Amino acid sequence: MDSLPVSQKVKVTAIAGDGIGAEVMRATQQVLAAAGAQVEWEDAMAGAEAFRKGIVTGTPQETLDSIESCGVALKGPLETPVGFGEKSANVSLRKIFEMYGNIRPVRELPGIRTPFSGRGIDFTVVRENVEDLYAGIEHMQTPGVSQAVKLISEVGCERIAELACALALAEGRGKVTVATKANILKQTEGMLKTVGERVVKRHPALTHEHMIVDNCAHQMVIRPEQFDVCVMTNMNGDILSDLAAGLVGGLGVAPSANLGDTVAMFEAVHGSAPQIAGKALANPTALLLSAVMMLRHIGHFATAAKVEHALYVTLEEGRDLTGDIAAPGDGVSTWAYVERVIANLGRTSARVPAREYRPIAMRPWPRGTWSRAVAKRELVGVDVFIESTAEPQALGDSLVAAVAGSRFSLKLVSSRGAQVWPVAQPHTFVVDHFRARFMFIAPPAAEGSAEIADLIARVGREHRWMHVEKLQRFDGADGFTKDQGEG
Ligand code: NAP
Repeated sequence: MDSLPVSQKVKVTAIAGDGIGAEVMRATQQVLAAAGAQVEWEDAMAGAEAFRKGIVTGTPQETLDSIESCGVALKGPLETPVGFGEKSANVSLRKIFEMYGNIRPVRELPGIRTPFSGRGIDFTVVRENVEDLYAGIEHMQTPGVSQAVKLISEVGCERIAELACALALAEGRGKVTVATKANILKQTEGMLKTVGERVVKRHPALTHEHMIVDNCAHQMVIRPEQFDVCVMTNMNGDILSDLAAGLVGGLGVAPSANLGDTVAMFEAVHGSAPQIAGKALANPTALLLSAVMMLRHIGHFATAAKVEHALYVTLEEGRDLTGDIAAPGDGVSTWAYVERVIANLGRTSARVPAREYRPIAMRPWPRGTWSRAVAKRELVGVDVFIESTAEPQALGDSLVAAVAGSRFSLKLVSSRGAQVWPVAQPHTFVVDHFRARFMFIAPPAAEGSAEIADLIARVGREHRWMHVEKLQRFDGADGFTKDQGEG
């Protein structure tokens, strides 16, 4: 039963987007209307046209206002114009509305033949959507060395792990796999591992499992049926959710949801497919399945099931499918496919296992600047990043001389994470980007700003430095990783 009275229409922002967006949006709206979905669409624009008008987010203010007031959006694909220098409108929307959870269901679809058909694949990838390398903080450190900052917050891990658990419980699932690269990235990926374990254990109905993310990729291909809910940081989730989509028919049939505290946006995973735009060749399945997720989000469970089953029956029977999923030569137009789905409304697929969906009980997160309290904070050293073409031994020796008589001693020098001073490995390929690790001889007073300024002045007399990082300990634990070979 739908949890809202059927007479109560829910306003939803509809962003058709670029390329095939207009066709798949119209197709989806036609099926929903035929299914009796109590949705009132508010059309809004975003994407290439907005970029052409010079709107740097790719989304005009009226569209942002509509999303803000509706709280729910269904979105077609948005082009990221190459060469305008703008950031992706999709990424901007996720950030603007803090839609921190990206939900990617991975479910075998009847009638869509893949090498994995018959395995009963049915899991969901929950991807953190706003942090990680996708903060997009990048700098050229030297003319030939670039850097991206991977930012992971404890609260960000907590939110995404809680969402993964809430989703598992809402869908009657039992296991949450936290997939990370914590073996290598101990501070960033390690944070999701630690927090994820803590969060999943709070839910007695759920089993926790940790998996190294590269093995997770392997396991998804070898034994995908073992997964229930997988939670990952942004970039890992981006890659593995696409891999997972490939197991069940590819991006053309993959739906997704972006969830935040106040706004939820549902979209197909595929792009604007400009080559087939306007030719009635586009398959609207992915956006339709995204709309099914949207209907569940607004509590219209019965309508969601009706649309989903009509789609499953259509795929199962294999009549009137679009060219991308039909048998060779049998493809029909987008509109013939839509007609067939509409004709199948009210029928139920026997081949797809039923799942009892309940509302996802998302925990609200307090507003305001989040901060982790610590009882003890120690500043123990400083990493200074230096551009130099000197031989590592000569560079180390000159840095030792530079800090003589200061509050620091030079502990090591590395290039791209490999130690080159005081000990170097003969095979290390050295580039002009060095990290010099200086440790305080005696702990500084307060923030150590004067001491660090003196250090930079001393280093800067002979070398070009580009970046400084404090080495801190919080409640006795190192807030930095050791270098390869560092004692
Ligand atoms: P794409 O648009 O997904 O298209 C790749 C190919 O996949 C298409 O040429 C088409 O293959 C097939 N395809 C995708 N969706 C289909 C559908 N619904 N029905 C039938 N066939 C479909 O990927 P892209 O070419 O890399 O990206 C094009 C633009 O979309 C770029 O500007 C990109 O930035 C943007 N994009 C947006 C989003 C988003 O808004 N979330 C996501 C990804 C990409 P055939 O040519 O073989 O028919």
